[in-house]
Amino acid sequence: MNFITLLGLIFLISPAFAYEARITKGQLSPELEVLLEKASTESGIDFKSSDFLLIEERNLATSKFTMFVQSNSMVPVNGTAVRIWSDLKTNELILAEMHLDEKSQVQKNHLINRYMEAKFSSKALKSKQLSDSISDLVKKVVARHDTDSKILGMKFKDEWQKGDLVRVVEVRGRRGVHHILISLLKNKVLKTSYREFLQSENFSLKANVFPIYEEVESSGERLNYELKELKYLDTHIYDGGENPLGPLGNTEFQETQYSVLLAGTPLGEEFGLWSEFSIRQKIEEYVKQLPLRTNAFENGVLLQGKYATINLHPDVKEAFKEIDFEVKPSIHHLLKWEFTSGYNAKAVSGHQGRVIFSQEELLNRVPFRHPEHDTVSYINSGFDEVQVYYGVTALMESLVSMGFTDPELSEKPFHAFLFDPDISMKDNAYYFDNTINFTTYNPGTPNLARDNPTIWHELGHAIMERLMGVHLNFDSQGGYGGLSEGMADFIAQIVVEHQTGGKSFPGKANFRIINDIGFDLTNEFHDEGEAYGGAMNDMLSTVISYQGEEGLSAFTDLTLEAMRLTRNHPRLTAASWFEHMLYSDELGSSVRAPGQYKDLIETALKSRNFSFAKDFRPAQMQVKFGETELTNQSKGSRGDPLTDCHASYELKILLTSGDAHFITFPATVKVEYQKGALQGAIKWIGEETNPQIYTVKSESDILTLPVQAELECDFINQPDGSCSDYAYLQVYNEGSRKPIAKKRFYLKINPKLCSTSKK
Ligand SMILES: [Zn+2]
Repeated sequence: MNFITLLGLIFLISPAFAYEARITKGQLSPELEVLLEKASTESGIDFKSSDFLLIEERNLATSKFTMFVQSNSMVPVNGTAVRIWSDLKTNELILAEMHLDEKSQVQKNHLINRYMEAKFSSKALKSKQLSDSISDLVKKVVARHDTDSKILGMKFKDEWQKGDLVRVVEVRGRRGVHHILISLLKNKVLKTSYREFLQSENFSLKANVFPIYEEVESSGERLNYELKELKYLDTHIYDGGENPLGPLGNTEFQETQYSVLLAGTPLGEEFGLWSEFSIRQKIEEYVKQLPLRTNAFENGVLLQGKYATINLHPDVKEAFKEIDFEVKPSIHHLLKWEFTSGYNAKAVSGHQGRVIFSQEELLNRVPFRHPEHDTVSYINSGFDEVQVYYGVTALMESLVSMGFTDPELSEKPFHAFLFDPDISMKDNAYYFDNTINFTTYNPGTPNLARDNPTIWHELGHAIMERLMGVHLNFDSQGGYGGLSEGMADFIAQIVVEHQTGGKSFPGKANFRIINDIGFDLTNEFHDEGEAYGGAMNDMLSTVISYQGEEGLSAFTDLTLEAMRLTRNHPRLTAASWFEHMLYSDELGSSVRAPGQYKDLIETALKSRNFSFAKDFRPAQMQVKFGETELTNQSKGSRGDPLTDCHASYELKILLTSGDAHFITFPATVKVEYQKGALQGAIKWIGEETNPQIYTVKSESDILTLPVQAELECDFINQPDGSCSDYAYLQVYNEGSRKPIAKKRFYLKINPKLCSTSKK
C-alpha cells in the first residue's frame, strides 16, 4: 500500500469546542505559522505560534516528524496537538493534523488574567509552597479512603482543562492508584477516583489433575490423577458484563489494513494498520477500564490467574445446548476471519467456564474418561478447565524458575479456549496469537486437554513467539520450518524433565523427540523437526546424565539465551540457530561457565549428519520416480499428492554415507503403510505384509521398489470424497532401533473419478 492510498483512509471525529483539521500532501508548507493561519481563518479565532510548545522533532525513516502542543502561560492545554510530517529531502508537507482547543484560546486573556491574579508563574507552579498546599489537599482525600489510605508515591502534571488551570495528581497507594484533580485557580479538589491494582494478590486452590496425561497415546494405558495445587489465581478480575469487548467487538478489521510489521507503531496507528498483536493490546487497554470484581467463592471463582485464563470456545453455546450452567461471555477473545465485502477479521469473545463455588466442590471434579469423549459431559464436569489451568501454570513455573524472567514476556497469561466444536478440527490442540486452543475428540484418541506434553508443545510455540519475536522468519534448508516443531518439542521436554525430576513414566520413551533422525534426510517439516528436537535432546540428556537437575537448569538457561539472541531473525537456518547456541554458551551466565557446553553441542551435531563446515557432504537419501526427485515440494509430497488413476509407481532409492558416515551398509529400507501418524486411508497393494523390508548393500546398490494402490479407499478422509495417504520410506542402520532417515510419498485416490475414467 503506498502512502497516498493510506492518506485516503484517515478520518477524524470532532468533539465539541475543538478545531480539527487534516492537511494532506503538498496542500500547504509544513510550518506551524502557515497551518495556524488556516486554523485561524476557518475558526475565526486567532491562534498564534507563540502559544504553542514544541514537544518533539525527529526524523523517521520516511519523513520528519514535528509536534507542538497548544499552551497558555507555558501550561499545555489538554488534548491538543499539531503534528506535522514532512519530506526529508524536499521538506514538502506529507501530512499535518491539528487538534486545537477553541475555548481556551478565546478565553486566553481571561485565563492569563486569572493566572496572574492567582499569582502563578511557571516558577511558582514548581514552588515548594504550592506543592505543600496541594499535598495537604491530597493527603486529606487519601486519608478518607476506607481501605487504602497510605501514600506510597505521588506524581502530577499541570494543564488547562475547560478554561481552568488544573493539577492532575496520581497517588500510589498500597493496593491501588488514586487520581485527584485539583483546580489551582480555585484551590479546590474537582474530582477524585480510585482504581485497585489488578493481580496484586493471588491465591491457590487444591484440585485433582494429571501430572503428565490421562492416557498413553500409543498403548491407551490410563494413568492416575493426583492432588495438586492450582496456583496464582487472581483475587480480582474484570467484570465484562454482556458485551465485554465493547465497540472493539463490533469492529471489522480489513485484510487490506493488515500489517504485522507496522501495526502498533506510530505510523501504523496513524493509518489504521492492525495485527493480531495490536488488536490484542487495544482490547487489553479497553478491558482495563472495566469495573473489577472479587474472584471468590461468593461469586463463583473463575480460573483466571497470573499465567493462564480458561475460556470456552466462542461457538460452544450454539453447538452444545445441554450445558447445565449459564454460559456467559468472557473478556478474552479469539480473532475470527470472515468473508463479507472482503476478508475481514473480528474479535469474538469466548465464554466463561464453570465457576467454582467451594474448595470441596472443586475436589469433587474428578476426571471421567468418557468412552465416546462426550463433549457436553466434559464441559459440565469442569474438569478439563482445571487440567489446562494446571498444565499452563506448571510450564510457566518451570521455565520461570530456570531463567525465563524477561519483563512482560514472562509475566502475561496465555488464554486457553476449550472445546472448539468444528468437526474438521477434531483431535487437535494448537497455539495462535497468545491463545492455546483445544477441540473435541474421536473415541480412540487421547483428550489433548488432559495431556500436558501436548499442552507444553503448543506453549513451546508460544514461548518461541514471545522470546524469538513475531517477526522471526525460518529458512531451514528447503524452507520447511523443522526448527519450529523441534524447538516446541524441546521446550516441552525441558518442562517434562523439570516436572518429573527426570523420573520415567509410561509412554515417555515413545516421545517424538527421542529419535535418531539426521538432518537433511526427510521431506516434510514434521520429520525434519525430529532432527532438531532430537539433536537438542541428545545434548540435554548428556548434560543431565552428569549434572542432574543443575544441568537441566543451566542448559535451559543457554537455550533461552539463544532464543533471545535470534529474536526477529529474518531468515533463521539450522546452522544459524546452532551458531547462536554456541555463542550463548561462549557468553556464559551466572549458572554456566563460558564455553562449558561447546564440545557437547558439537558432538551431538556431528552424530546427526550436521556440520558447520562449508565443504561438508551430508549423507543422502534420494528417492526418485521417473524423472522426478521426491522433495518437500515435489509431486508426491504432502502438499502435492499424486492424483492420477494409475496409482502404480516404481521408486528408486539411492543412499550415500556422506562425510559423517551417517548411513552405513548394509542398510535396511522399510516401507510402512499403516503405523505412521494418520495413515490407513488408502488400500495399498501388499499392505497385508506391512512393513515391507528391503536391504541396500552399498552406495551403488540402487533399490527399486513398487508402490501401488487399489482405486478404492479403506476410508474417505478428504472433503471431496477421496482418500489421501502416504507410503513411509524409512532407513535403518544395522542394529538401530529407530529410523535414521525417512521420506513420505503421498497418493490421493478418488474412487468415483477413477471408476468413471476407467469406463
Ligand atoms: Zn507444533
